[in-house]
Amino acid sequence: MNKTILKKYAKLIAEKGAAVQKGQQVIVTAATDQEELAGYVAEACYKAGASYVKIEWTNAFANRLDNKYADIDILSTVTTWQEEKIKQRVKDLPCMIYIDSDDPDALKGTDVKKAGEVRRRRYPVLKPYIDQMENRYQWVIVAAPSRAWAKKVFPGLRTNDAVRKLWEAILKCARMGDGSDKSAMTCDPFRAWDEHNEDFIQRSAWLNEQKFDRLHYTSKNGTDFTVGLNPRVKWEGGGEYSLQGIYFNPNMPTEEIFTSPMRGRADGLLVASKPLSYQGQLIENFSIRFENGRAVEVKAEKGQQLLEEMIAMDEGAPYLGEVALVPKESPINQCGILFYNTLFDENAACHVALGTGFTNLLEGFENMSTEETLAAGVNDSMIHVDFMIGTDDLTITGIKADGTEVEVFRNGTWAF
Ligand code: ZN
Repeated sequence: MNKTILKKYAKLIAEKGAAVQKGQQVIVTAATDQEELAGYVAEACYKAGASYVKIEWTNAFANRLDNKYADIDILSTVTTWQEEKIKQRVKDLPCMIYIDSDDPDALKGTDVKKAGEVRRRRYPVLKPYIDQMENRYQWVIVAAPSRAWAKKVFPGLRTNDAVRKLWEAILKCARMGDGSDKSAMTCDPFRAWDEHNEDFIQRSAWLNEQKFDRLHYTSKNGTDFTVGLNPRVKWEGGGEYSLQGIYFNPNMPTEEIFTSPMRGRADGLLVASKPLSYQGQLIENFSIRFENGRAVEVKAEKGQQLLEEMIAMDEGAPYLGEVALVPKESPINQCGILFYNTLFDENAACHVALGTGFTNLLEGFENMSTEETLAAGVNDSMIHVDFMIGTDDLTITGIKADGTEVEVFRNGTWAF
């Protein structure tokens, strides 16, 4: 990729995504093959005033080796230095920038049970620190193509062409022009993001005014599902504020307006409209049936065991933490590409997520503990896994407490 474009993208990530402020520390997480972009992002953070930028490298091959050879007790132990490291993070509250370039099949064939058990055992030690940091720092997830990911998305192309095509799609979805180098070079992505955020603000305001009691979803694919909303939890989309009052954009791209539903109120069948990449493996052609808010039955043509593992991760894993609305006009959907990556695919279609909810959308959350936000109906779990349910014929009806019905979605797009 052209260096000028990469630098412009890096600046967008640092300033519009993470909104790095003078004197703040930053941690950039990137795979070892993303040296170039990670370097430019770090530089853009310093130029934005960061006091210190640390790049943390990840490597899927090394993770596979750990899964295969290392003893589960060793992997499950949070060592002293690891705990000290996260304590330091609680103190410094660095901005977090995640560059996602994962191969969707990176962990195919690894021991899912072992990986799940490792996460389950480590989580209780890390959880108090995660809670202390929640909503207190800026973060952003962005994408960059790896060769393996590009080949997965464009299997018919030569690797270099596939990488170039995936770059074009990623930049376009991140509002860096129309996909051509020329427009990536001349566009003003900062303005484009401001306009995008303005649209989110207006639509969320409408949804918040409606005060729906529940939403009813139907589609020809078999989806027939009702989810209860939480009167104390608002809808939001686009950028958000940290508790320090800093406005940042946690997802680039983002096309969704979302909320956390009322824990315990979800009934009926949701049929997935796209495959789900979970823990480096694919779950395909699946559906989930809910009763009293809980996933009680899952069926998958591929990845049945993985899906079962997922909803058994902890107490909150079979409950919903998110419902999100994405119109079919979303540029990601218009690309017509299946990215096999949640950051993109979740922004191509309406979706829900199993697992933890968004406490920051709950009124008065600043002074509440996790037990209290859970009691207020916002789910809590170590997982948060989005899956797509949007189709071209999806209808969503908002139902108010007095029974009044208002169309929210018709034929896969906004009805208001
Ligand atoms: Zn979402």
